[in-house]
Amino acid sequence: IIRVKDLKKIYRVGEIEVPALRGVSLDIQPGEFVSVVGPSGSGKSTLFHILGGLASPTSGLVKIDGEDLSAITDRERTRLRRTKVGFVFQRYNLLPTLTAMGNIEMARYFGGNTGPLEQSFIDLLKTLGIHSRLHHKPRALSGGEQQRVAIARALVNHPTILLADEPTGNLDTENSVKVLDVLRDLNSRLGQTILMITHNPEAAAYGHRTVLMRDGRIVGEN
Ligand code: ATP
Ligand code: MG
Repeated sequence: IIRVKDLKKIYRVGEIEVPALRGVSLDIQPGEFVSVVGPSGSGKSTLFHILGGLASPTSGLVKIDGEDLSAITDRERTRLRRTKVGFVFQRYNLLPTLTAMGNIEMARYFGGNTGPLEQSFIDLLKTLGIHSRLHHKPRALSGGEQQRVAIARALVNHPTILLADEPTGNLDTENSVKVLDVLRDLNSRLGQTILMITHNPEAAAYGHRTVLMRDGRIVGEN
């Protein structure tokens, strides 16, 4: 479902070149839950941004659902980002002026979906435990609730893959466990494919396998 081959990314800052990815290859099958761990600066977020169409690689191949990300136009990349990839970030990134539901509806609108919400999605909101909090703005929600709203928003367009970059990085243990349980449940019950970056070994253990990155390379897997 995802194929990454010899991916390289060099950031150019003025005269300086920063190699962030030095040849990463990774295949993810439908229904897998993969964790990515590695020290700060090892290229984890860069890999995510490229997978999600938020950044383009310097060289190498990235395919999502058979679509070659290196060969498509910016416009197609934007569509792919809005429909095939769901993002969850460490800092939730909800729009503060909209309610929780407003945040979800806006993502749905940009994904080209209109009309009433599907019953399956309403059920999902209940599973996430946020259905009674949807008319509040983010600042009235706890960190754990905000993150679960962000997960709902990421899933509203039925993405091929859910990308989560340190989804529990801002949460206490109790809320981290809630969010991780939600991810595990989405994966095992609904078959949602998930790629999750984390610094926390206990969080990484929620995945089927863990990929270890260092200095822009994949150096191990278990
Ligand atoms: P962390 O665990 O701290 O989030 P990371 O593994 O996600 O780290 P990246 O953010 O992918 O690491 O960064 C990889 C390398 O690329 C680092 O050396 C970083 O300084 C550099 N880098 C990342 N983004 C940029 C950018 N926009 N411009 C220049 N260099 C960048
Ligand atoms: Mg990062």
